[in-house]
Amino acid sequence: MSALEPITLPPTSDGWTAWLEERGRGSLRTAADVIAALKVAPSGDEALLQVWNDASVALANAFAATSLMSSVHPDPAVVALAEAIEVEARRFSSDLFLDRDVFDQLSSVPQDPLDDGAHRMLADALRSFRRSGVDLDEETRARLRGLNERETELGQAFSRNIREGRREALVPAAALEGLPADYVQAHPSDEQGRVRISTEYPDVHPFLTHSRDASARRAVAMEFFNLAWPENDVVLGDLLRLRDEKARLLGYPDWPDFDAEVKMIGSGAAIAKFVDHVSADAEAAGRRDLAVLEARGAAEAIDRIDLSSWRYCFEAVKREQYGVDGQEVRRYFDFSRVHQGLLDVTGRLFGLEYERVDVPTWHEEVTSYDVLLAGPGGSSGRIGRIHLDLHPRTGKYNHAAQFDLAPGVLDRQLPEGVLVCNFNRGLMEHHEVVTLFHEFGHLMHHVLAGRHEWVRFSGVATEWDFVEAPSQMLEEWAWDAAVLQLFAHDGDGNPIPTELVDRMRAADEFGKGFLARTQMFYAAVSYRLHLEVPDDITGRLFELYPEYSLVAPLEGTHFHAGFGHLEGYTSAYYTYMWSLVIAKDLFSAFDPDDLLDPAVAQRYRDTVLAPGGSRDAADLVAEFLGRPYSTEAFSAWLNR
Ligand SMILES: [Zn+2]
Repeated sequence: MSALEPITLPPTSDGWTAWLEERGRGSLRTAADVIAALKVAPSGDEALLQVWNDASVALANAFAATSLMSSVHPDPAVVALAEAIEVEARRFSSDLFLDRDVFDQLSSVPQDPLDDGAHRMLADALRSFRRSGVDLDEETRARLRGLNERETELGQAFSRNIREGRREALVPAAALEGLPADYVQAHPSDEQGRVRISTEYPDVHPFLTHSRDASARRAVAMEFFNLAWPENDVVLGDLLRLRDEKARLLGYPDWPDFDAEVKMIGSGAAIAKFVDHVSADAEAAGRRDLAVLEARGAAEAIDRIDLSSWRYCFEAVKREQYGVDGQEVRRYFDFSRVHQGLLDVTGRLFGLEYERVDVPTWHEEVTSYDVLLAGPGGSSGRIGRIHLDLHPRTGKYNHAAQFDLAPGVLDRQLPEGVLVCNFNRGLMEHHEVVTLFHEFGHLMHHVLAGRHEWVRFSGVATEWDFVEAPSQMLEEWAWDAAVLQLFAHDGDGNPIPTELVDRMRAADEFGKGFLARTQMFYAAVSYRLHLEVPDDITGRLFELYPEYSLVAPLEGTHFHAGFGHLEGYTSAYYTYMWSLVIAKDLFSAFDPDDLLDPAVAQRYRDTVLAPGGSRDAADLVAEFLGRPYSTEAFSAWLNR
């Protein structure tokens, strides 16, 4: 067992600029020096792989420190410095993978004598170089460089048009009936008794969910589903053509095949198959849900479930038929109890101990723990350190995510991970508890997979479309009455009633078939547009709606122009559902009546989490389940 020391962070109030200079720019300098040495080292020598790993460790450290600090540090000067270094690190990295000399050196290493780990690491690195086009002729590489720059510009324009494309609908003030008091207050009416509803999420979603005025909802939906149109119709067309050209220059038949090559799903054709499979699987359940929504709509003369009415009917059914009172639920989720409960539950499951350490971090609300592997004869030592930064503050990253402080490397550096969330300090909503378990799943993955020789395999280094599966699975624990009753106690110490948890689950599960079809529509749009590169995007969209979605589209809308995920996910929006399918499959190995059984959990820890990226996710899952992954468990869940 290694006795690696954790990183010493500066005192909370001081010394962060110097620390970041060292950890960020210093690491980039190290990486540059190592790469320079690699280029002049003797070719064909296996030792080149260690040199490459050294550079990769330094680069990973620079990325970890800068991406974390730009998201959490309270001092804007530190944030600005972190962002600047992050840009430098990105440039370094993209230049590196187009560097023919480095590629030639790595290619010179004979692969046959290598052990499995080194072989996999090298193959992966060479593939990354090839996917950048390093081995193509100079003219093609110049074209690719141009396309990459243009792709970044178009991607930024696409996101910017959505961000800045705010539209408004003017609706009668009476349409606010059904909305919460603070929402009504924030929307004063003009002289003609009208209010403005913008297309921003906090404005549009509550309105479409709660407003009882069907024609006002329609007016708002018409604006919302025309967000960034027509500007983004043009931008998206350019982006689709560009990605198609790039994929072809790199030797792939189309963009989805290029993108899927490094993912668990493997190919574009497999995406099509998956989307159609889930869609068919959700047909019966989705139609049942639709009938419930239609019946509810009919009570108010809503004649079809479309983009302007589905949220409203969905919410009405949940409220009227599943009545779960959020206030009643919150009483059981006191933050500090939940926090301790999470550590107790995951410690017991994964055979870990968490030792609180009093060390400086970037903010006094952060709590830090050493993670120890518990053994039969007591703990066998520290395997990582975690920092929990769980409450909101001004300027902090405003979603929930796991960040790295450092990737673990065998006998070299300890894995350190950070949870960045924005939870209530007092009583939590149940969805916050679910999020906490989800994000903690990523953190466990980071720590447990932190003992590989090759940093490329360290932590959450698995295929992109598998990454969410372990976290989606861990959410199940936050829905289990016996687990929750360990820590979800009200002010008088009464545990949350099983009956209440059952009702919460039922409410949560209503509409899963219907929603799965909506997800498959998004996935089909993301895949089909990239595959087909249609001239008339809107026309293609209106063909895809009836094929996948159970929501009727509104004539005259252009959903794709505001579908921001087309930028980051490109053709891979299927991943959310894909990892959910895998999560349900993994979960099928656990005993639903005893989720605290450590035997299964620890086998899962060792076969799925600890290997990190050192093997294909499909192989890890197959080893854990004793068979290849399948969609059966998901299908059973969808149709139960
Ligand atoms: Zn996640």
